[in-house]
Amino acid sequence: MAFVTPTPTTLRVSSFSPSPLCSRRSFVGTALSTPTTSFPASVLMNLRVAVVGGGPAGACAAETLAKAGIETVLFERKMDNCKPCGGAIPLCMVDEFDLPPEIIDRKVRKMKMISPSNVEVDVGKTLKPNEYIGMTRREVLDAFLRDRAVDLGATSVNALVTKLEKPTTPDGKYTLRYTDYADAVGGKSPSKTQQFDLVIGADGANSRVAKDIDAGDYNYAIAFQERIKIPDEKMKYYEDLAEMYVGDDVSPDFYAWVFPKYDHVGVGTGTVINRPAIKKYQKAIRDRAAVRLEGGKIIRIEAHPIPEHPRPRRVEGRVALVGDAAGYVTKCSGEGIYFAAKSGRMCAEAIVEASKNGEVVPTEDDLKKMYLKVWDQKYWATYKVLDILQSLFYRSDPAREAFVEMCGDDYVQRVTFDSYLYKKVTTVSPVDDIKLLFRTASSLLRENLREIADIKKPMGTLR
Ligand SMILES: Cc1cc2nc3c(=O)[nH]c(=O)nc-3n(C[C@H](O)[C@H](O)[C@H](O)COP(=O)(O)OP(=O)(O)OC[C@H]3O[C@@H](n4cnc5c(N)ncnc54)[C@H](O)[C@@H]3O)c2cc1C
Repeated sequence: MAFVTPTPTTLRVSSFSPSPLCSRRSFVGTALSTPTTSFPASVLMNLRVAVVGGGPAGACAAETLAKAGIETVLFERKMDNCKPCGGAIPLCMVDEFDLPPEIIDRKVRKMKMISPSNVEVDVGKTLKPNEYIGMTRREVLDAFLRDRAVDLGATSVNALVTKLEKPTTPDGKYTLRYTDYADAVGGKSPSKTQQFDLVIGADGANSRVAKDIDAGDYNYAIAFQERIKIPDEKMKYYEDLAEMYVGDDVSPDFYAWVFPKYDHVGVGTGTVINRPAIKKYQKAIRDRAAVRLEGGKIIRIEAHPIPEHPRPRRVEGRVALVGDAAGYVTKCSGEGIYFAAKSGRMCAEAIVEASKNGEVVPTEDDLKKMYLKVWDQKYWATYKVLDILQSLFYRSDPAREAFVEMCGDDYVQRVTFDSYLYKKVTTVSPVDDIKLLFRTASSLLRENLREIADIKKPMGTLR
């Protein structure tokens, strides 16, 4: 999730407008099935799109395609998947993606930033009464988004996609091979195929689709989380409060967190530069938060890769990658849910437009121009700024002390929350920006000088 994310540009949140066309119900059931009902020729020749992966990216892509009447098949290997995740979403996602109130387990209005030397800074005082960070359980959020896509006409298939085969002619179809879990007999799931004009790879960080189109690799962080059920009186403290810890002990290049969930807390950390030590960092965050977690019981342990940057290729032929499969998690904050949903939707909107609502097959060029280029223009600066912030503030304990100190500043808090909650910067004061720049530079300098002075002191001298 994002905390200090002052972005240099104004990010406009585009609103989705449903297609005026009525929804043509998709006709896909089992592999290679042929419709037996007779449809008008234009409907039979409809564009067929496969969406691989039913997380936020895939579900939102499928929703948009289905709404436009495009024949959409959504493949998900585990319908009750509980993606390892902090589950924090920005406020704008609630409106933009029409999320009902029951999707939000908790509304976080207070944050504690905790420095390596355990200095605590309260963040959130600039929030308006109706503003909050939404805490969700992924099994609930993902199921809701997927069901909505199906209600709108997408066909969901409970299957593991095992291979994507490219067409042998320029206008040929893609063949998707999958193990159909829904059709298992005696514990054995049959292998099947279906053919598609276009494929959206929304299958997360270990994307099968990305491998099969040779999209190239990205560096990744490993994130670890324990869900801990703590006594009710301890849970009261976390009712609308989340904690973020920084320090070499909890992560050499990221932050550790305690996020409130429905009836427990998620406690986790992540790292890119020392992945084998992730359990050591997890123990350190548990130790740092020990008093607040006292009496707690670990109810679930989970870990997953987090992409560090986009893949070298995100569109190849008529295949497009979205969400984690494309590598759309922001550095510094590790935020990916909103960007997954948004990229799924934007990619699908590009397909709807380029295909004239399913009448023609979009080309690789269409996908590059109407999805990739638009995405990069909209979000490139956000990713870049967070990348810079991470390398500036997470590189050493003195820098982290300066970072936490800076978070106490009202202006930083306002800009941070505006950028995170709304994915835009509403009011930016150049004077305050310059003051902030000086304060940042002087905090960093002071902490670094302090560190140098400490190194020069004889052993045993206390600061
Ligand atoms: C520990 C941790 C904490 C995080 N905390 C936050 C946070 O608080 N806030 C935030 O915004 N982001 C957070 N993130 C990042 C966020 O979880 C991801 O960015 C987000 O889930 C990406 O969504 P997605 O739809 O692209 O991919 P995923 O959510 O990974 O969904 C991919 C889906 O594809 C399915 N699938 C995969 N392969 C196949 C296949 N071959 N066939 C069929 N189905 C397949 C999977 O079952 C899954 O349902 C966190 C990540 C981690 C690891």
